[in-house]
Amino acid sequence: MSVTGKTVIVTGSNSGIGLGVAQELARAGANVVLNSFTNRDEDHAIAAEIAKEFGVEARYIKADMSKAEECRALIDQAGGCDILVNNAGIQHVAPIDAFPTEKWDAIIAINLTSAFHTTAAALPHMRAAGWGRVVNIASAHGLTASPFKSAYVAAKHGIVGLTKTVALETAEEPITCNAVCPGYVLTPLVEAQIPDTMEKYNMGREEVIKKVMLERQPSREFATVEQLGGTVNFLCSDAAKQITGTTISVDGGWTAL
Ligand code: NAD
Repeated sequence: MSVTGKTVIVTGSNSGIGLGVAQELARAGANVVLNSFTNRDEDHAIAAEIAKEFGVEARYIKADMSKAEECRALIDQAGGCDILVNNAGIQHVAPIDAFPTEKWDAIIAINLTSAFHTTAAALPHMRAAGWGRVVNIASAHGLTASPFKSAYVAAKHGIVGLTKTVALETAEEPITCNAVCPGYVLTPLVEAQIPDTMEKYNMGREEVIKKVMLERQPSREFATVEQLGGTVNFLCSDAAKQITGTTISVDGGWTAL
């Protein structure tokens, strides 16, 4: 089984890891549905570029992953999918006693609750098709913690738990559910953390990257979006048929420490 001709929905995929995963699966022949909460010409243009470059069908559907009904509507509007990649995510860094409640709520909604709604809406389509893959983009923070990231760490540990539960509920079906746990990948989400971290540690950009961000990543290299796309592609292959309910770290050794 390959992803050729399969339909993949990747939430939060107009940039970063989501876009990289969509591109890698399109390269492997999958039709892709891109998503974010905006509805700009450039969002639709990204889909058109993927369709042209890889000769697949590609669409962009606007849906805000912080809203339950829009999560479910995304799956309905796409007409279901064979592969669901729950990737949408945001970050906020603050000590817990200064952590804004609205940021906590938004992180839990977008990084965790959205996957509950999209998975619930997608599984009936996978069951009808007799094949399905759910891949949750968790994080090294789904397995370990860091200070000042209470909501993110809670959401990512939560999605690892959700992954295991969905895997058990689909264990006797031709459907798997796994979580991919990236370490640091240089995307807009990580880029946005650099100025705050520079200020907090009173360091320059390169020093922050090597000494703070990649301090816990023994390889001292960022993971790439292509590597993450390749990992998702592997989870869709026949070799991964018995891999379900687990996590695959793509973190340069972070969680081995
Ligand atoms: P990014 O900011 O480039 O991408 C996040 C995506 O989510 C964007 O497409 C954005 O538009 C979308 N998004 C945000 N809010 C949304 C909403 N309400 N509705 C729909 N879409 C929304 O960041 P990224 O680094 O590519 O992150 C993607 C995922 O990977 C996240 O879940 C993140 O936690 C996870 N992750 C990233 C890293 C890293 O180092 N970059 C490491 C581990 C895990």
